[in-house]
Amino acid sequence: MSESYEVVIGLEVHVELKTASKLFCGCTNLFGQEPNTHTCPVCLGMPGALPVLNQQAVALATRAALALSCDVHPFSKFDRKQYFYPDLPKAYQISQYDQPLATEGHVTIRGEFGMRSIGIERIHLEEDAGKLNHIGQRLGDATGSLVDLNRAGVPLIEIVSRPDMHSPEEARLYLTELRTVLSYLDISDLRMEEGSMRCDANISLRPSSYTGSLVDLPRVEIKNVNSFRNVQRGIEHEIVRQKALLEQGIRVVKETRGFDDAAGTTYSQRSKEAANDYRYFPEPDLPPLILDTEWLEAQKREMPDLPEALRHSLTTEGLVSRDVEVLVQDRALYGFWREVVAIFPDVKLVTNWLLSDYSRHMNAQGLSFDTPGVSAEHLAQLLGLIQDGTLSGKMAKEVLEAMFTTKESPEAVVQRLGLSQITDQEAIRVIVAEVITANPGVVADFQGGKDKALAFLVGQVMKATKGQAKPNLVNSLLREAIASHV
Ligand code: ZN
Ligand code: MN
Repeated sequence: MSESYEVVIGLEVHVELKTASKLFCGCTNLFGQEPNTHTCPVCLGMPGALPVLNQQAVALATRAALALSCDVHPFSKFDRKQYFYPDLPKAYQISQYDQPLATEGHVTIRGEFGMRSIGIERIHLEEDAGKLNHIGQRLGDATGSLVDLNRAGVPLIEIVSRPDMHSPEEARLYLTELRTVLSYLDISDLRMEEGSMRCDANISLRPSSYTGSLVDLPRVEIKNVNSFRNVQRGIEHEIVRQKALLEQGIRVVKETRGFDDAAGTTYSQRSKEAANDYRYFPEPDLPPLILDTEWLEAQKREMPDLPEALRHSLTTEGLVSRDVEVLVQDRALYGFWREVVAIFPDVKLVTNWLLSDYSRHMNAQGLSFDTPGVSAEHLAQLLGLIQDGTLSGKMAKEVLEAMFTTKESPEAVVQRLGLSQITDQEAIRVIVAEVITANPGVVADFQGGKDKALAFLVGQVMKATKGQAKPNLVNSLLREAIASHV
């Protein structure tokens, strides 16, 4: 009889904090600089150089912990995690081990299964290592490696989930929601491709007959995958690989594996038993991290609106859940939506235009909502012209396209293109009368009960006005004129 397996996934996410300077020294914290131009004796690990904790980093880490519903501990401490690697000048990383900044949080994910809470075991503060630039395609066939220590000492938070996820899709949803929540805090760039957000995934399979504890299951860690998509692919491959081993009666080895993007597979890097001997001990050069109660209360009061609260308020404002998700997941888009609605409060019209035509032009121009292609004022004015009947929906699309190109106001475009709808009833009545006189046969057909004949007459009026009359107004004026026409 064949065994069934439950997939067990836990994620460790590292997030670089957007501080002005590094975690323990005054060096500038900036991505993409000339190698080794932002270093000093502290982050180079010179003997005798002493670390001083960056308060801004503590504040940003605390905000993250609060946003993820963690218990933030007024007392935590720093520890040395020792290992040798060329990107780590001190041969240890200052991290937090047995008394981290925060514990017991959660992230809520949504999917076809409904809503589920994924536990967060801990969040701790630590310093980043430097960066190795391998000469050649990959480490295996590199002809040399260059060390850049600009990143050494950059503040990180490590967010460790509980092993609560059971499919690659759940892992992707967790990462997406985690990034969405953090994006509202302004604490990090959160760019996986630049390494300001990095993810390691732990995967094991639990045979249905297994009765031991989760911790004792052999687990495989996939390291430093560079996109959410690849985290999902890596986990998918690992499930297939481990299942195949177990079904052949082969033991899964506890190890660290890399992900090969091109092949979509994972490959062995090192066995975990040997690598994990970090010999943590308390950092003697730093005092414990003690958070003042009043300071912590002030941090709580200053928390911005977070996605859960926004979802609730947008739903109350009448938006459908699909639109709510699109708005909430892009903080800049949501901010822009708020700006437009503040000027033009027809929530549905704003949402429809923003999420369709407006977004399409933004994508076409490669813009993000931090730099909107057409201002909130101009978009609100355009929607006003639709609402008061000056523009048909079709005309408004044309006007918006021109606005994206020329940055003019909608009124300026309307004037330049001579686009406004004719809403002047007298002007339309004159044309209606002409059309009736010119088409006596069609008028007679309509009077004789052929409803379709009216559509022809409407078409004639629209043609005469070059499409600028409001069709439903033309329709009612025609009916009116024919009724009084003997
Ligand atoms: Zn430094
Ligand atoms: Mn770490």
